[in-house]
Amino acid sequence: MTAVVWFRNDLRSLDHRALSAACANHDTVRGLYLLCPAQLDEHIIAPIRRHYLRRALDELGRQLGEIGIVFDIIDVGHFRNIDDQLSAYCRQHHVDTVYAHREWLLDEMRRDDGCLEKNIPLQLIDDSLLSPLEIAKGDGGPYKVFTPFSRRSRDHLAAKFPTCLRRPQAMAKAVSNPACPVFGEERDSSLWPASQDALLDQLRDFCAERADDYREARDFPELDDTSRLSAALSFGLLSPRQCLARLQQECGEAIWDGNSGAGTWFNELLWREFYRHVAYHFPKVVRGRAFQTYTENIPWPNNQALFEAWQEGRTGYPIVDAGMRQLRESGWMHNRLRMITASFLCKDLHIDWRWGERHFMENLIDGDFCSNNGGWQWAASTGTDAAPYFRIFNPTTQGQRFDAKGEFIQRYVPELRHLSGKALHQPPESDIYPAPIVEHKEVRQITLALFKNVRD
Ligand SMILES: Cc1cc2nc3c(=O)[nH]c(=O)nc-3n(C[C@H](O)[C@H](O)[C@H](O)COP(=O)(O)OP(=O)(O)OC[C@H]3O[C@@H](n4cnc5c(N)ncnc54)[C@H](O)[C@@H]3O)c2cc1C
Repeated sequence: MTAVVWFRNDLRSLDHRALSAACANHDTVRGLYLLCPAQLDEHIIAPIRRHYLRRALDELGRQLGEIGIVFDIIDVGHFRNIDDQLSAYCRQHHVDTVYAHREWLLDEMRRDDGCLEKNIPLQLIDDSLLSPLEIAKGDGGPYKVFTPFSRRSRDHLAAKFPTCLRRPQAMAKAVSNPACPVFGEERDSSLWPASQDALLDQLRDFCAERADDYREARDFPELDDTSRLSAALSFGLLSPRQCLARLQQECGEAIWDGNSGAGTWFNELLWREFYRHVAYHFPKVVRGRAFQTYTENIPWPNNQALFEAWQEGRTGYPIVDAGMRQLRESGWMHNRLRMITASFLCKDLHIDWRWGERHFMENLIDGDFCSNNGGWQWAASTGTDAAPYFRIFNPTTQGQRFDAKGEFIQRYVPELRHLSGKALHQPPESDIYPAPIVEHKEVRQITLALFKNVRD
């Protein structure tokens, strides 16, 4: 009999538990990806991300082909067709086990339940997280605050440090798998490596060369000293286990010291885990609801013209505009700028965080529901661990602090290249660059009132 490995957001052949289990237990193994273009639209996948996904699928087909595994990509149209199409596939190929990694967002859990109800021999394996979903507080409840969550996760990982799996031995003679067809509007993503070797090099280089300085360097967009692995992680081209294992290999015991660069990067991997736990334990966030219920009552004014100025990077606040233009031009934005631009949208322009969340998904190559939702709710002070609503970034001082010389600003806002020092961060009115669209001091007071008025 044949086993099939149903790949989802785990598009790799190294350190893949489901693939390893299938190869260990069966003589014949096929790989399968069920493409749902309509669902990709519903879940908002940016054109650059769509292109990256197609390249990732081609790369996976190549990797599987090398070990003699046929990789089928089937366009099922819509999510709701999956169980019927998968049943038919299993009958056609005499499949007795479908191996897949468990997913925990609502739609995905329903999809898997639907398959099990149709008696598809689906074997779900827990693989995608470093911190098991069962990790709980002393009272048995899920964590709502990051710091204790990360402490508990570290204890868990220290007691049982994860090991990575090798790629399975070849099952048969190498095969050539066909390329994935184009499935919607795309934007070129070729600056982002999708091949396994390039990603492993990128991970190794980051851990060996830059992780030590990460704590100091990570907040300065011009240094560009973060790993840039988020897109690969979001589609599972690398596993978080591979990241942690490599970090430990290069940085040793420093990973356990939260004040070291390596320990700080470890923490970022745990932020990613935390937001997955939140989405699983508090599914209202998956349904578009705020974690802090009272903030649902904020009457966001949602001024369309202000929103468009933000989207287009013409707010008159240089660091905000530079960040928004980086997103527009490259499909990615530095974390510090995500925080600044998100805060600006909600707390200076008074626009519902869900508008910004959607805009990011429409543009980011690493658009990932849990991390994006968590980041937006953090910035808007509506989420777990939310920045208190009265902590409001001043966009001018953020620019002065994190891009003091304005090098990053000048790269993305060329109209300001003739300025320096204070003038660069607070440009004088001119024909080529807009005056600030809002006065920070004034709108700050409005934000405070918006929150205060709806608090208990
Ligand atoms: C408003 C907002 C929206 C965001 N949207 C996304 C998103 O759609 N997809 C996404 O992957 N990240 C998102 N983030 C988190 C973070 O900005 C990116 O993960 C990071 O900038 C990616 O760059 P990097 O790979 O160089 O990260 P590094 O600094 O090298 O960090 C390593 C990895 O840790 C994870 N990580 C780092 N910071 C965070 C964080 N704050 N929350 C969750 N995971 C984190 C990422 O997987 C990242 O690749 C968002 C943050 C904010 C404030």
